[in-house]
Amino acid sequence: MLARIDLHTHSTASDGTLTPAEVVDAAVLAGLDVVALTDHESATGWEAARARARETGIGFLPGIELSTKLRGASIHVLGYLVDPTTAELAEEMRRVRDARLVRATQMIDALSADYPLSREDVDAQISDGATVGRPHIADALVAKGIVPDRSAAFAALLHPRSPYYVSTYAPPPDQAIRLIRAAGGVPVLAHPGRAYLSGRLTDAVIADLVDAGLAGVEVWHRENEQPTRAHLLELAKRHGLITTGSSDFHGAGKPNRIGENLTPQAALQQIVGDGTGAAALI
Ligand code: AMP
Ligand code: FE
Ligand code: FE
Ligand code: ZN
Repeated sequence: MLARIDLHTHSTASDGTLTPAEVVDAAVLAGLDVVALTDHESATGWEAARARARETGIGFLPGIELSTKLRGASIHVLGYLVDPTTAELAEEMRRVRDARLVRATQMIDALSADYPLSREDVDAQISDGATVGRPHIADALVAKGIVPDRSAAFAALLHPRSPYYVSTYAPPPDQAIRLIRAAGGVPVLAHPGRAYLSGRLTDAVIADLVDAGLAGVEVWHRENEQPTRAHLLELAKRHGLITTGSSDFHGAGKPNRIGENLTPQAALQQIVGDGTGAAALI
């Protein structure tokens, strides 16, 4: 039987709405055989997810997702099986997380001038120690009845073209890839579709990222359009990259359903064979 493998999900350790254990339960309910937890700049959900995976018998792959920036374009890099305590990686994750906090404060200040939204409203949406992002501001806007759901918040008030939007620090993608490799991890380019269509992520950039140590590319993801997927498959062949498929599940925060896209078993095997910074439960 074909294994059902979803390698990209988020929990309350970052901007998902389910706890790490609940994400694993959702994966079991969806009939998955293996699930990866890939919170933004955080590995704090791994322990609870792994424990739940052990209890339920599902496979678990620990991961992270790093925000990076290239010529203004937001590019995300997944890092499987990293050792999150490696000094350089831990330092960079801290830097991004600290910047996200400052940026959230700036956005809340701007929004609160025009809407009944306070710092406390947003804090109420953030789990202890979680990586803070616009989704938490979105959830506060929903709780206050200012917008109907997260997606509506992202479409207007939190959109990069909104007057309330503030950008935040992120390293360049080649640096993130090097940090993941140095921490024993396997770097995979997340949902490249949008950056690709914008023209800021190009074949030449991907070739540079391969030189930096990129191991794979997320092909089957709802944000990658069909022609982009075909092109990514071609690039993957050219550069010998692993190809993955994933849901990018955020619980109730996004329409993405867990298991809606899957990763071929051979890709998982390669990731597990290459990663040395953490143990998979397979
Ligand atoms: P930020 O990290 O602050 O730039 O916020 C962007 C993050 O919001 C991305 O990781 C998205 O996955 C996440 N997100 C969660 N829910 C939504 C949604 N409904 N629409 C758009 N982005 C979302
Ligand atoms: Fe997210
Ligand atoms: Fe992402
Ligand atoms: Zn994600």
